[in-house]
Amino acid sequence: MTTETPPRMADAASPSTTAGGRALEAAFSQFDAAASNLGLDADLRAILRAHQREYVVRFPVKLDDGSVRVFTGYRVQHNTARGPAKGGLRFHPATDIDEVRALAMWMTWKCALANVPFGGAKGGVQCDPLALSSRELEGLTRRFATELEPIIGPDSDIPAPDVGTNGQVMAWFMDTVSMHHGYSIPGVVTGKPLAIGGSAGRSDATGQGIVYTIEHAARRMGFGLHGATVAVQGFGNVGEATARLLHEAGAVVVAVTDIGGGVHDPHGLDIPALARRFRQHGTVAGASGTQPIDNETLFGLDVDILVLAALEGQITSANAANVRARILAEGANGPTDPSADPILRERGVTVIPDILCNAGGVIVSYFEWTQNRAALAWTREEVNDRLRHHILLAADAVWQRAEEDRISKERVKLHLLKYLEDHYGISEEDLISARLAAHVIAVERVAAATRLRGIYP
Ligand code: NAD
Repeated sequence: MTTETPPRMADAASPSTTAGGRALEAAFSQFDAAASNLGLDADLRAILRAHQREYVVRFPVKLDDGSVRVFTGYRVQHNTARGPAKGGLRFHPATDIDEVRALAMWMTWKCALANVPFGGAKGGVQCDPLALSSRELEGLTRRFATELEPIIGPDSDIPAPDVGTNGQVMAWFMDTVSMHHGYSIPGVVTGKPLAIGGSAGRSDATGQGIVYTIEHAARRMGFGLHGATVAVQGFGNVGEATARLLHEAGAVVVAVTDIGGGVHDPHGLDIPALARRFRQHGTVAGASGTQPIDNETLFGLDVDILVLAALEGQITSANAANVRARILAEGANGPTDPSADPILRERGVTVIPDILCNAGGVIVSYFEWTQNRAALAWTREEVNDRLRHHILLAADAVWQRAEEDRISKERVKLHLLKYLEDHYGISEEDLISARLAAHVIAVERVAAATRLRGIYP
């Protein structure tokens, strides 16, 4: 087992060429903006910017053909000032240490914003899960769980599903740790199947939370979900649930893309039929009665709501000007590059930032962990009621914070901006976006915990 060198600074002279590096630069720049807005002192900035613990493991797995392949896995705990580390495990060919660092940092802020008593972590294995048999995937998961055992546990660090992992992977993970201890430890992971201590509502929780935050934002903007048009990038755990729940709420989902292609029908897609096709073929592409569509065309559709539910770095300065949606809901983590934010703002697109929008997953993971500790089983209704309450508290805090400090360009005429600048010295740069507001609230909470705990020894 080895540990990696500390992360590069985001302000390094040359911009990163990897997707993970760009995600980390985005995470650092969002933190820096929040720290500056809060006027954090240099010591606190350095503490909160640093990743507390990083594990890199390389381990062999026997493949079905008798050969052996060595995989690289990661677990990064960014900050545990507010509680045990919490965050998903990603199995993806492009996963690297920088991507995991970025995702871990976003988890710290997401848990703080959602006000769940966790710090932030993330993990992953560089692999293509679709190219592995079920037996190979099980072997990889069990060995990875074994490698991570020194740093994970219900009181220290609790993994969950992310891209390329699911309830079955969590079940193998939990079983492996339990076998090593000689008794069941359900609280070591969340996102487990119901039969082994999972929570009702967890599999849809991220999508359900996204729908609650979209409904909330739309209401503020004066429209409802019924009849609203929607485009969704990604049709996995998050994208499928979001599309289905929006469809059930009366929205018209006109386009969906996934890794295999995309489908478009301006009159509305049959989402349950699309989900059946996805289960059979592993992609939505080619569904009957639909037109093909690619990501870039989907991003530019004239819809009310654009949901990004795939990967990081999808909307950048190169394509942000094409976005015509009224609401951009960040179901994925880091789908919008910071260079795109001012362009989206200029275009009047309301962005629901990722650490708010997709927080439903970690909120219900918290409920699952709580139920495991108390040996309780809440109903789906109880879970969804609590989720709605929790995520809307966070949403209210974000929009209120954004409004306290900003007069948004969408809502105020330019001459008033000029007036504010001339008379009060408030410049356009001072206007605070929902993303900045979300990060400011989160960083403020983690900073408060850090101050209270002090520096050991
Ligand atoms: P998943 O593996 O279940 O699904 C990912 C989807 O993205 C798949 O449909 C895949 O085909 C699609 N995709 C990949 N590359 C694409 C491309 N280039 N164009 C279009 N589609 C593409 O993963 P998930 O759990 O749904 O996670 C999606 C995003 O949501 C990630 O950013 C993840 O970190 C974030 N997230 C997940 C959860 C959760 O509970 N699973 C919680 C919060 C945030």
